[in-house]
Amino acid sequence: MNILVFGPNGSGKGTQGAIVQKKYNMPHIESGAIFRKNIGGGTELGKKAKEYIDRGDLVPDGITIPMILDRLKEDDCKSGWLLDGFPRNKVQAETLAKALKDANMPLDYVIEIVLPRDIAKLRITGRRLCVNDNNHPNHIAFDAIKPVEKDGKLICRVCGGELKTRADDQDDTAIDKRHDIYYDDTTGTMAAVIYFKGLGGGTKVISVDGRPSINEVSEAIMGKLA
Ligand code: AMP
Repeated sequence: MNILVFGPNGSGKGTQGAIVQKKYNMPHIESGAIFRKNIGGGTELGKKAKEYIDRGDLVPDGITIPMILDRLKEDDCKSGWLLDGFPRNKVQAETLAKALKDANMPLDYVIEIVLPRDIAKLRITGRRLCVNDNNHPNHIAFDAIKPVEKDGKLICRVCGGELKTRADDQDDTAIDKRHDIYYDDTTGTMAAVIYFKGLGGGTKVISVDGRPSINEVSEAIMGKLA
Protein backbone atom coordinates (compact mmCIF):
# COMPACT_ATOMS: atom_id res chain seq x y z
CA MET A 1 0.00 0.00 0.00
CA ASN A 2 1.37 3.41 -1.01
CA ILE A 3 0.21 6.45 0.94
CA LEU A 4 0.76 10.21 0.89
CA VAL A 5 0.03 12.14 4.06
CA PHE A 6 -0.62 15.88 4.08
CA GLY A 7 -1.16 18.29 6.97
CA PRO A 8 0.25 21.64 8.10
CA ASN A 9 3.16 21.75 10.56
CA GLY A 10 1.54 21.19 13.93
CA SER A 11 -1.37 19.08 12.63
CA GLY A 12 -0.05 15.82 14.08
CA LYS A 13 0.92 14.54 10.64
CA GLY A 14 4.13 12.94 11.92
CA THR A 15 2.33 11.36 14.90
CA GLN A 16 -0.43 9.91 12.71
CA GLY A 17 2.13 8.81 10.14
CA ALA A 18 3.99 6.92 12.87
CA ILE A 19 0.75 5.13 13.90
CA VAL A 20 -0.03 4.08 10.32
CA GLN A 21 3.59 3.04 9.79
CA LYS A 22 3.49 0.84 12.89
CA LYS A 23 0.22 -0.83 11.92
CA TYR A 24 1.22 -1.61 8.34
CA ASN A 25 4.95 -1.95 8.96
CA MET A 26 5.89 0.19 6.01
CA PRO A 27 8.77 2.66 5.68
CA HIS A 28 7.74 6.11 6.92
CA ILE A 29 9.59 8.46 4.61
CA GLU A 30 9.69 11.98 6.06
CA SER A 31 11.47 14.53 3.93
CA GLY A 32 12.08 16.84 6.90
CA ALA A 33 13.51 13.98 8.98
CA ILE A 34 15.87 12.97 6.15
CA PHE A 35 17.15 16.55 6.02
CA ARG A 36 17.56 16.73 9.80
CA LYS A 37 19.48 13.44 9.82
CA ASN A 38 21.83 14.80 7.17
CA ILE A 39 22.28 18.06 9.07
CA GLY A 40 23.07 16.08 12.25
CA GLY A 41 25.55 13.92 10.35
CA GLY A 42 27.24 16.95 8.77
CA THR A 43 26.78 15.64 5.21
CA GLU A 44 26.97 17.80 2.07
CA LEU A 45 23.20 17.47 1.65
CA GLY A 46 22.71 18.61 5.24
CA LYS A 47 24.98 21.61 4.77
CA LYS A 48 23.06 22.66 1.65
CA ALA A 49 19.64 22.21 3.29
CA LYS A 50 20.27 23.81 6.69
CA GLU A 51 19.98 27.50 5.81
CA TYR A 52 16.64 26.95 4.06
CA ILE A 53 15.23 24.86 6.91
CA ASP A 54 16.30 27.30 9.62
CA ARG A 55 14.45 30.08 7.78
CA GLY A 56 11.33 27.99 7.19
CA ASP A 57 11.88 28.07 3.41
CA LEU A 58 11.55 25.04 1.19
CA VAL A 59 14.81 23.34 0.28
CA PRO A 60 15.10 23.82 -3.52
CA ASP A 61 13.32 21.26 -5.70
CA GLY A 62 16.63 20.41 -7.42
CA ILE A 63 17.84 18.92 -4.12
CA THR A 64 14.58 17.61 -2.64
CA ILE A 65 12.94 15.90 -5.63
CA PRO A 66 15.82 13.53 -6.52
CA MET A 67 16.37 12.78 -2.83
CA ILE A 68 12.79 11.52 -2.43
CA LEU A 69 12.49 9.79 -5.81
CA ASP A 70 15.74 7.91 -5.09
CA ARG A 71 14.47 6.93 -1.65
CA LEU A 72 11.30 5.45 -3.17
CA LYS A 73 13.45 3.21 -5.38
CA GLU A 74 15.08 1.49 -2.38
CA ASP A 75 14.26 -2.14 -1.66
CA ASP A 76 12.22 -1.53 1.51
CA CYS A 77 9.73 0.51 -0.54
CA LYS A 78 8.86 -2.37 -2.85
CA SER A 79 5.90 -3.52 -0.76
CA GLY A 80 4.60 -0.09 0.16
CA TRP A 81 5.50 3.27 1.66
CA LEU A 82 4.12 6.20 3.57
CA LEU A 83 5.40 9.52 2.27
CA ASP A 84 5.17 12.48 4.64
CA GLY A 85 6.27 16.06 3.92
CA PHE A 86 6.58 15.53 0.17
CA PRO A 87 5.19 16.88 -2.12
CA ARG A 88 5.22 20.36 -0.64
CA ASN A 89 4.40 22.34 -3.78
CA LYS A 90 2.73 21.87 -7.15
CA VAL A 91 5.95 21.18 -9.06
CA GLN A 92 6.86 18.39 -6.62
CA ALA A 93 3.31 17.00 -6.92
CA GLU A 94 3.41 16.86 -10.71
CA THR A 95 6.92 15.39 -10.71
CA LEU A 96 5.94 12.71 -8.18
CA ALA A 97 2.78 11.80 -10.10
CA LYS A 98 4.81 11.37 -13.28
CA ALA A 99 7.52 9.33 -11.53
CA LEU A 100 4.89 7.01 -10.01
CA LYS A 101 3.22 6.59 -13.38
CA ASP A 102 6.53 5.84 -15.11
CA ALA A 103 7.43 3.29 -12.42
CA ASN A 104 3.97 1.73 -12.57
CA MET A 105 3.56 2.41 -8.86
CA PRO A 106 -0.02 2.98 -7.73
CA LEU A 107 -0.92 5.64 -5.20
CA ASP A 108 -3.54 3.98 -3.00
CA TYR A 109 -4.38 6.70 -0.48
CA VAL A 110 -4.02 10.41 0.09
CA ILE A 111 -4.55 11.28 3.75
CA GLU A 112 -5.23 14.94 4.49
CA ILE A 113 -5.27 16.21 8.07
CA VAL A 114 -7.28 19.42 8.03
CA LEU A 115 -6.45 22.00 10.67
CA PRO A 116 -7.04 25.77 10.87
CA ARG A 117 -3.84 27.78 10.74
CA ASP A 118 -4.18 29.41 14.19
CA ILE A 119 -4.54 26.03 15.93
CA ALA A 120 -1.63 24.54 13.97
CA LYS A 121 0.62 27.39 15.10
CA LEU A 122 -0.30 26.96 18.75
CA ARG A 123 0.61 23.28 18.59
CA ILE A 124 4.06 23.67 17.06
CA THR A 125 6.09 25.09 19.92
CA GLY A 126 5.23 22.23 22.34
CA ARG A 127 6.49 19.33 20.33
CA ARG A 128 9.73 17.55 21.22
CA LEU A 129 11.95 15.30 19.10
CA CYS A 130 13.39 12.04 20.41
CA VAL A 131 17.05 11.79 19.43
CA ASN A 132 16.74 7.98 19.08
CA ASP A 133 13.68 7.66 16.88
CA ASN A 134 11.69 10.16 14.89
CA ASN A 135 8.64 7.92 15.25
CA HIS A 136 8.46 8.48 19.04
CA PRO A 137 6.02 11.39 19.25
CA ASN A 138 6.31 13.68 22.32
CA HIS A 139 4.38 16.88 23.01
CA ILE A 140 4.29 18.83 26.26
CA ALA A 141 0.63 19.89 25.77
CA PHE A 142 -0.96 16.51 24.94
CA ASP A 143 -1.46 13.95 27.71
CA ALA A 144 -1.44 11.03 25.25
CA ILE A 145 2.13 11.79 24.17
CA LYS A 146 3.50 13.78 27.09
CA PRO A 147 7.22 13.24 27.74
CA VAL A 148 8.24 11.60 31.02
CA GLU A 149 10.00 13.63 33.72
CA LYS A 150 13.15 12.12 35.18
CA ASP A 151 15.60 13.89 37.51
CA GLY A 152 13.96 17.21 36.60
CA LYS A 153 14.44 16.59 32.88
CA LEU A 154 11.94 15.62 30.21
CA ILE A 155 12.77 12.39 28.40
CA CYS A 156 11.10 10.42 25.59
CA ARG A 157 7.91 8.68 26.75
CA VAL A 158 8.64 5.68 24.51
CA CYS A 159 12.33 4.93 25.02
CA GLY A 160 13.64 7.32 27.68
CA GLY A 161 15.88 8.98 25.11
CA GLU A 162 16.97 12.59 25.15
CA LEU A 163 14.51 15.13 23.74
CA LYS A 164 15.29 18.11 21.56
CA THR A 165 13.33 21.01 20.15
CA ARG A 166 13.64 21.98 16.51
CA ALA A 167 15.10 25.45 15.96
CA ASP A 168 12.49 26.09 13.25
CA ASP A 169 9.72 25.26 15.76
CA GLN A 170 10.80 27.99 18.16
CA ASP A 171 11.14 30.74 15.55
CA ASP A 172 7.95 32.67 14.90
CA THR A 173 8.98 33.87 11.44
CA ALA A 174 9.97 30.35 10.35
CA ILE A 175 6.64 28.96 11.62
CA ASP A 176 4.67 31.60 9.69
CA LYS A 177 6.70 31.04 6.56
CA ARG A 178 6.06 27.28 6.66
CA HIS A 179 2.35 27.91 7.09
CA ASP A 180 2.34 30.47 4.24
CA ILE A 181 3.73 27.69 2.04
CA TYR A 182 1.33 25.03 3.33
CA TYR A 183 -1.90 27.02 2.99
CA ASP A 184 -0.99 28.42 -0.45
CA ASP A 185 -3.46 26.79 -2.83
CA THR A 186 -1.95 28.28 -5.99
CA THR A 187 1.58 26.88 -6.02
CA GLY A 188 2.15 25.68 -2.44
CA THR A 189 1.25 22.54 -0.52
CA MET A 190 -2.53 23.02 -0.71
CA ALA A 191 -2.09 23.18 -4.48
CA ALA A 192 -0.36 19.79 -4.26
CA VAL A 193 -3.19 18.44 -2.07
CA ILE A 194 -5.80 19.64 -4.56
CA TYR A 195 -3.78 18.14 -7.41
CA PHE A 196 -3.62 14.69 -5.80
CA LYS A 197 -7.23 14.79 -4.62
CA GLY A 198 -8.27 15.37 -8.21
CA LEU A 199 -6.03 12.70 -9.69
CA GLY A 200 -8.57 9.86 -9.63
CA GLY A 201 -7.31 6.58 -11.06
CA GLY A 202 -8.03 4.48 -7.99
CA THR A 203 -6.45 6.83 -5.44
CA LYS A 204 -8.73 7.11 -2.40
CA VAL A 205 -8.80 10.37 -0.44
CA ILE A 206 -9.15 10.37 3.35
CA SER A 207 -9.74 13.87 4.76
CA VAL A 208 -9.90 14.04 8.55
CA ASP A 209 -10.48 16.83 11.02
CA GLY A 210 -7.20 17.33 12.89
CA ARG A 211 -8.77 19.09 15.89
CA PRO A 212 -9.87 16.09 18.03
CA SER A 213 -7.50 13.98 20.18
CA ILE A 214 -4.68 11.92 18.69
CA ASN A 215 -6.69 8.72 19.24
CA GLU A 216 -9.81 10.10 17.61
CA VAL A 217 -7.92 11.35 14.57
CA SER A 218 -6.13 8.02 14.32
CA GLU A 219 -9.42 6.09 14.54
CA ALA A 220 -10.88 8.29 11.80
CA ILE A 221 -7.91 7.47 9.57
CA MET A 222 -7.72 3.75 10.41
CA GLY A 223 -11.45 3.35 9.87
CA LYS A 224 -11.01 4.37 6.27
CA LEU A 225 -7.73 2.63 5.43
CA ALA A 226 -8.23 -0.83 3.92
P1 AMP B 1 9.12 19.11 8.29
O1 AMP B 1 9.87 18.20 9.21
O2 AMP B 1 8.20 18.37 7.38
O3 AMP B 1 8.44 20.23 9.03
O4 AMP B 1 10.22 19.80 7.34
C1 AMP B 1 11.20 20.64 7.90
C2 AMP B 1 11.82 21.51 6.81
O5 AMP B 1 12.47 20.66 5.84
C3 AMP B 1 10.84 22.32 5.99
O6 AMP B 1 10.47 23.53 6.62
C4 AMP B 1 11.66 22.56 4.72
O7 AMP B 1 12.65 23.54 4.92
C5 AMP B 1 12.35 21.22 4.54
N1 AMP B 1 11.51 20.31 3.73
C6 AMP B 1 10.85 19.20 4.14
N2 AMP B 1 10.18 18.63 3.12
C7 AMP B 1 10.42 19.40 2.03
C8 AMP B 1 10.00 19.35 0.68
N3 AMP B 1 9.17 18.38 0.24
N4 AMP B 1 10.46 20.30 -0.18
C9 AMP B 1 11.29 21.27 0.25
N5 AMP B 1 11.71 21.39 1.52
C10 AMP B 1 11.28 20.46 2.41
